Amino acid sequence: MQPVGRLDPQPWMTAPETGAVVAALTAEGAEVRFVGGCVRDAVLGRPVKDIDIATHDPPERVIALLQRAGITVVPTGIKHGTVTAVVGDKHFEITTLRRDVETYGRHATVEFTDDWIADAARRDLTINALFCAPDGRLFDPCGGLADLRAGRVRFVGNAETRIREDVLRLLRFFRFYAWYGKPPPDEEALAAARALAPLLPTLSGERVCGETLRLLAAPDPAPVVALMRDLGVLAHFLPEGTNLARLAAMVTVEGIAPRRLVPAADPIRRLAALIDGGAEAARAVAERLRLSNAQRDRIVSLASGPWPAVELDGPARRRLLYRLGADRFRDAVLYAWANELSGEPTMDRRRTEAWLDLLAAAETRLPDFPIKGRDALELGLRPGPEIGRLMQEVEAWWIDGDFRADRDACLAHLAELAGSVAR
Ligand code: ATP
Ligand code: MG
Repeated sequence: MQPVGRLDPQPWMTAPETGAVVAALTAEGAEVRFVGGCVRDAVLGRPVKDIDIATHDPPERVIALLQRAGITVVPTGIKHGTVTAVVGDKHFEITTLRRDVETYGRHATVEFTDDWIADAARRDLTINALFCAPDGRLFDPCGGLADLRAGRVRFVGNAETRIREDVLRLLRFFRFYAWYGKPPPDEEALAAARALAPLLPTLSGERVCGETLRLLAAPDPAPVVALMRDLGVLAHFLPEGTNLARLAAMVTVEGIAPRRLVPAADPIRRLAALIDGGAEAARAVAERLRLSNAQRDRIVSLASGPWPAVELDGPARRRLLYRLGADRFRDAVLYAWANELSGEPTMDRRRTEAWLDLLAAAETRLPDFPIKGRDALELGLRPGPEIGRLMQEVEAWWIDGDFRADRDACLAHLAELAGSVAR
């Protein structure tokens, strides 16, 4: 295979960690190439997250070479020829060149091969089948470079065949289209996606979740999600995802909010914006997609409220902020704002200012409740549930007073309440 060009030295290529892994893998003359996302993103000048490396050597040999160089090896997917090398905080996925021999849905029986072209042919999309040698030489067996530059996201080979081999590729197509594509989308891929979407429920929740969240993290996923709805794809894996207008509005308000308050697109918040059906639907989505408990709590909380309103006065804002905490308060403001905007044809400037002002309330530093259960014991109260009830009562009084009462005032109030109980 002839190189089609050369990639300028990239920081991730020249990093000492990468150098150590490449030196270990090539110590006995093996050929290795960077492949997949790192090459694709480097070509575009986008930041590179994780590094995938392809090699001729079988996994046992890869492990031996890495161990000999003192590099930590995790056998992440030995059956599929993948091991992970860990150097410092960097992870490298090293995969032995392979070619599908037979495929049964997502389980490919792989036969190790030294054929780079065959390896490229079993990758999903042409833009993901770019290789780069450690010296920078670029290899493009599937025409991925031209596709990448044109924003053409298409399968390596026949779309329907490739999706039947692994249905996850149907979702991956839309994910990569959202990140790298320019309209119009590939017709063959759309037709295959429409026809094969009924197979989506055969995928595990974890795999669907991974792709869904990566799709929603794209700069603007809303048009692609709308396309998936129009094709009937969305209904097969996220039937609750019907609020396209609120998703689009969420992307808009995230863009208006100051970076300090909303540093990045947040796929979980966007997922919450997309789904209709209240807390029950949010719970069903969380369960099906196997979300973590923290992720589930976030979408359920956004779906159930309370949602801050711009009309709230200062003390009411602070009360809600205290109750929700800064992160949930900020999420809830964005959700409520997106919800309002999704029903409005235009955005009023003064209204935008009002929402931004409410959002900024998330930065208010509220004092910690100045007394503890210990203080009640020191007042001579007997340990037991009564103390908890009294403390809650004092805290509610302190919150109602807009957090102004200091420690002494809270202690005095506690003593007063305790006295009336004792009496
Ligand atoms: P990123 O890591 O930025 O999300 P990536 O392209 O590196 O993007 P990975 O999921 O890390 O994506 O996969 C690495 C490479 O493995 C891909 O570029 C692609 O070549 C191949 N690949 C991953 N999943 C599949 C799949 N389901 N079918 C075919 N090839 C795949
Ligand atoms: Mg990757």
